[in-house]
Amino acid sequence: MTVPSLLPRQDARTQRDRLEVLTVLINGPEFDPVLRGGVLKIPPSHPVYPWNCTVPDCARSRWRRYAMCSVHADQWQEAEAGGMTRTQFLRGAEPLAAWEAPEEMMCRICPQRPAFSLRLAVCFRHRNRWLSHLKRHPGADEDDGCRRTT
Ligand SMILES: [Zn+2]
Ligand SMILES: [Zn+2]
Repeated sequence: MTVPSLLPRQDARTQRDRLEVLTVLINGPEFDPVLRGGVLKIPPSHPVYPWNCTVPDCARSRWRRYAMCSVHADQWQEAEAGGMTRTQFLRGAEPLAAWEAPEEMMCRICPQRPAFSLRLAVCFRHRNRWLSHLKRHPGADEDDGCRRTT
């Protein structure tokens, strides 16, 4: 006796019927249109899967805690320790420009690989090579990843 013989047999019609039911449900009015299609693009302030920082107009994605970006989460921890309420903090916090691109970015040296460091726009391998280079040449410019010649 083989394992497939233990499974309930499904004929082609059963599979087709299930696919039709699934297709009808996905195209129904209660199915979130964001979840349709091949590549899902969740908007930053999606009601179920939000990923934006909750500080008004902050363009950065939220970090693991506090539903804020890492900078605002750090600021909030200090403010909370000082007795500030979350509402007061959110009203007074300065919004920040996007640090990371919301879209996938490719390595600028080998464009077939995704960028690991979005600041440098290079893949994991090139980022490590760059960090290794900085260790050997401490005077290299760390801001833009390019050595400037003057
Ligand atoms: Zn933020
Ligand atoms: Zn690369």
